[in-house]
Amino acid sequence: MKAINFPKKDAVEVATLANPTAGVGEVVVRVRASGLCHTDLDVMHANYGTSAYPVVPGHEYAGVVAEVGSGVTGVSVGDRVVVDPNLECGVCPACKRGWAHLCEHLGAYGVTVNGGFAELSVVRADRIHPIGAMSFPIAALAEPMGCVLNGLSPVEGRIVDRAAIFGAGPMGLLMGLALKARGVDEVAMIELDTERLALAEAHGLAGLAAGSTELEAGRHSFDLAVDATGVPAVAAGLVDYVANGGTASFFGVCPQDARIEISPFEIFRRQLSLVGTHSLNHNIPAALAVLEAIGPSVEDVITHQLSLEEVAEVMGGHKPAGSLKIQMVL
Ligand SMILES: [Zn+2]
Ligand SMILES: [Zn+2]
Repeated sequence: MKAINFPKKDAVEVATLANPTAGVGEVVVRVRASGLCHTDLDVMHANYGTSAYPVVPGHEYAGVVAEVGSGVTGVSVGDRVVVDPNLECGVCPACKRGWAHLCEHLGAYGVTVNGGFAELSVVRADRIHPIGAMSFPIAALAEPMGCVLNGLSPVEGRIVDRAAIFGAGPMGLLMGLALKARGVDEVAMIELDTERLALAEAHGLAGLAAGSTELEAGRHSFDLAVDATGVPAVAAGLVDYVANGGTASFFGVCPQDARIEISPFEIFRRQLSLVGTHSLNHNIPAALAVLEAIGPSVEDVITHQLSLEEVAEVMGGHKPAGSLKIQMVL
């Protein structure tokens, strides 16, 4: 089969690999859509230190079951499915609490074992979820949407009338759409890029230009303010936009060595919650339900549907201009 392969640190190639076969408890998925994520580039550049080369990247993918291993029940060849990429150890203290996403030995398809940028991918049968009639590209958004829903878990049960999301990239947009689908009246997307602002507005979100007077007027007014940029300067200003009693969420991935200044007195006096979330925790079915609720227009988040070779080129450093989510579609 054809696959994108990271043979070693900082290297990407299109390779021909042996077709994987389904062992006990496994299935082979014929990949139909596979999303590119910043994590793939982190894997390529060994930024997490957990990468095991050679490895086929890709952890956001959907397809059709092509082979069913022994001991697998309730799955048939031809089933349309999406993959939950996380592979937790199951025995560490976090796993015992049901926090797979905080597992001390967390692995994942496309990170520590071969993933979805290939024609075929062998996965554990308990890591696939049926997608019904949903399109493969939308179903391949279930993993990022799972991260978004985990990102919203700290405000579950809390009042959120107004939310501000800094950064209208694919993750920021998915979070804005998820909040809207959950009935939050006012979701403001803050962004420099005018095309991204226009897209947010076309989807019923309020676009606010970064640095605008409208945004300045919004200081101390949002029940939830989210950094979805991963830019330390944006994260540093986040608390300023949170209303008394509200939540600042550090959702974007800042560089590991970045530092910001925070006033403990302000956190105390304005009763603020500062939260972070990591990955997703077996919430793919909930993510699929939210994608269904948003409807087919969520596909606007996907700006590029490329061949396997073209995705390899993008990973090599040729990112197309104006891109949001880039997917390999086979
Ligand atoms: Zn991802
Ligand atoms: Zn664990």
